[in-house]
Amino acid sequence: MNSLTGWEFGREHFPAPQDDPPIAQSTYSRGERCPQDFFDPVLRRFAAQYPRTQLRHEVELLGFTQDAEGVTARLKDLRSGREETLRADYLVGCDGGGSTVREAVGIPMHGSPVLTYTTNVIFRCDGLEKLHDKKPGYRYIFIGPDGTWATLVAIDGRARWRFSLVGDATRRKPTDEEVRAAIVRAMGKPFEFEIESVLPWVRRQLVAERYREGRVFIAGDAAHLTSPTGGFGMNMGIGDAVDLGWKLAATIEGWAGPHLLDAYGIERQPVAVRNVNEATGNLKRMLSPRDAKPSPEVFAPGAAGDRARKDFGDRYTAMMKREWFAPGIHLGYVYEGSPVIVPDGTPPPPDEVSTYTQTARPGSRAPHVWLAEDRSTLDLYGRGFVLLRLGSPQASDDALAQAAAACGLPLAVVDLDHAQARAAYQCRLVLVRPDGHVAWRGEAFASAAQAGHIVEVVRGAGSG
Ligand SMILES: Cc1cc2nc3c(=O)[nH]c(=O)nc-3n(C[C@H](O)[C@H](O)[C@H](O)COP(=O)(O)OP(=O)(O)OC[C@H]3O[C@@H](n4cnc5c(N)ncnc54)[C@H](O)[C@@H]3O)c2cc1C
Repeated sequence: MNSLTGWEFGREHFPAPQDDPPIAQSTYSRGERCPQDFFDPVLRRFAAQYPRTQLRHEVELLGFTQDAEGVTARLKDLRSGREETLRADYLVGCDGGGSTVREAVGIPMHGSPVLTYTTNVIFRCDGLEKLHDKKPGYRYIFIGPDGTWATLVAIDGRARWRFSLVGDATRRKPTDEEVRAAIVRAMGKPFEFEIESVLPWVRRQLVAERYREGRVFIAGDAAHLTSPTGGFGMNMGIGDAVDLGWKLAATIEGWAGPHLLDAYGIERQPVAVRNVNEATGNLKRMLSPRDAKPSPEVFAPGAAGDRARKDFGDRYTAMMKREWFAPGIHLGYVYEGSPVIVPDGTPPPPDEVSTYTQTARPGSRAPHVWLAEDRSTLDLYGRGFVLLRLGSPQASDDALAQAAAACGLPLAVVDLDHAQARAAYQCRLVLVRPDGHVAWRGEAFASAAQAGHIVEVVRGAGSG
């Protein structure tokens, strides 16, 4: 399905004039390789390993209904034109910003439907790097007397470039002449280039009000749309899938409690809010010279101008580092307040952007520690739950395994005699979920009842 557009998605906010072309949601232009080009083959290979998985391309979801037992979807094979219905226990809409699924269940999005109207231009120019005196770079940002107005990104490191004319919240589509003039302005002199595509798009900051409606879920861009500044979008989508995947499996396999699926949105939605805010902050920093306009000396020729430019550039570069060094955003998110995490009463670590401090505090991603040259603690996780035992076994340790067995919760007990792992995890016992997040930690189980309570909470059958 490739006909969905951001314009359709945004039409209730911005009715499109009849003669206007749609504004596409995707900012990847024809000829530009998008993450899916690299990523899809990997995902396809992985998904194909599962015997019950069927991959079907060129099939459109036309609509669906849900009842107490399941979901009935109407599908259309776009190659043959044949329509069919499909019955399933659950439906997950990973169908992008214009999500048919989200619209159908009426989940509203909140935030800013327009941050900027931007126009992306893919052009070819052999030897562009020899036409200017700047050092080789992945991204160049253009700042004039009125502030930041464009960016230039290397696509293939050779002849292909993406020029983005960064607009503002006023809807405007530049003419072809304006686009060409803007590229020449960026270079500072006329030069030969060939435009391959021009794509206007809308930058948004939106998060879905909820991620579930009955047996229907949304994930990825269907649930959150963010400015690309920071590169958080796809990572968030994958995080959604990792969180929802094991919970759906647990439900279908019969060992989930009634609240487990609700925890999906409770855990993931705050991550989206945090990340889209950060991405918009990155955008604001990038565009900040529009407000704090550079002094006239920055544009003056001569040695004094050179000094002013260097000074301005150094300060701007230092400010922009936050966008490029954000391990705290990528790895430091915590499922604080989740009903399927057992808190240990320790205070939350500071929510940082530029640094990531590993912690095994419940709700956090379990820390990475090298166990061997090519084996990490993270390699232990990914299927069922794992109870890490980082010290001498005690008789009461069996209580958790017994409680897990009683309800069918898959659990592996892993003994690690490893000083670094012990230091990183800080407790003798740490229960890690299939998605690699810590569900509980402690020194011992006070009783079989306590172990039973932990199992009930983490499988969504009890309250923490
Ligand atoms: C310029 C730019 C740079 C970016 N850089 C990064 C980055 O560095 N790192 C990062 O993590 N993210 C980045 N992103 C974001 C990332 O590309 C998106 O977040 C991600 O592609 C969203 O994936 P998705 O599967 O949720 O949605 P999409 O990629 O939009 O996929 C949705 C799919 O559903 C299909 N579909 C829609 N409706 C139907 C229907 N009714 N029936 C059947 N199929 C349907 C669509 O055809 C599409 O194939 C960037 C985005 C942009 C615009």
